[in-house]
Amino acid sequence: AKAAGRNALRLFSPQMQTQAAASVALERDLRGAIARNELHLHYQPIVDADRTMTGVEALVRWNHPRHGPVSPAEFIPLAEKSGLILQIGQWVMEQACEQIRLWGARPESRRLTVSVNISARQMRQPDFVGQVISVLSSSGANPFRLRFELTESMLFSDTEDVIEKMNDLKAMGVGFSLDDFGTGYSSLSYLKRLPLDQLKIDQSFIREALTHTSDATIAKAIVGLAHSLGMLVVAEGVETEAQHTFLAQSHCDSFQGYLYAPPCSAERITALLNTQGLD
Ligand code: C2E
Ligand code: CA
Ligand code: CA
Ligand code: CA
Repeated sequence: AKAAGRNALRLFSPQMQTQAAASVALERDLRGAIARNELHLHYQPIVDADRTMTGVEALVRWNHPRHGPVSPAEFIPLAEKSGLILQIGQWVMEQACEQIRLWGARPESRRLTVSVNISARQMRQPDFVGQVISVLSSSGANPFRLRFELTESMLFSDTEDVIEKMNDLKAMGVGFSLDDFGTGYSSLSYLKRLPLDQLKIDQSFIREALTHTSDATIAKAIVGLAHSLGMLVVAEGVETEAQHTFLAQSHCDSFQGYLYAPPCSAERITALLNTQGLD
């Protein structure tokens, strides 16, 4: 058995072993991160064509005591694999709802929508709807200000169950966006059955929209498709004025990206709203 084990190990390069060990260590550290207050939320503005902030996307941040900031692109997949995403997702929802309540108390931020990323594993919990109801009621957040971002891959299996949960939440006022649209297993047949409010065009199409005509064509087609299904469109990853102009001319409804603002603290969002004034 020992020899077989040694042979099996040879399948991995030393670099792969180091990476695997690093992710095991990271996962172990992540386990207590909420309790140790190492997680916080940033919020990235979502603006309309005249650049008025109409919403924000909540993005989780982990400040590791030794490694410093760890990207969610790195730790969210680990959290999904280990199941820790359930606790992290619950914590994110509580924080976001508390922030909705705080913003709801001020005229300049009352109408701001807060989008929260939901993992497939969270959505698959039998009592997901019940959990959302309890967070909403204990925070006192207005459900009409809460929006969930789902990805295409999670709609691929258990579609009926997901649709039922979406309908229950929609009945209370919660909105839904389909995130990273165009990168997953799109099936146009389920798209029309899902109670979605928005499609978010994936950043990969935006990045190349001005250099590859095919990406520009896809971006325009997504806008047309969404509008004909009664949905709005958000373009994400907008970094340049030229991209903004192209997307606005293509009738995108909302925009998100470094061109307008990076993800930042809730206090910074409040300050930006104050300078923006009432709409
Ligand atoms: P996402 O949902 O697609 O979020 C957008 C990502 O694009 C964010 O990265 C954001 O900071 C980045 N971004 C925004 N504007 C620009 C831009 O103009 N250019 C470029 N190149 N990037 C831009 P971030 O914050 O690192 O998050 C990465 C991913 O981690 C998210 O992708 C999402 O899938 C996941 N994630 C983040 N927070 C949560 C969470 O609370 N729950 C779950 N389940 N996933 C989360
Ligand atoms: Ca998202
Ligand atoms: Ca996205
Ligand atoms: Ca993404």
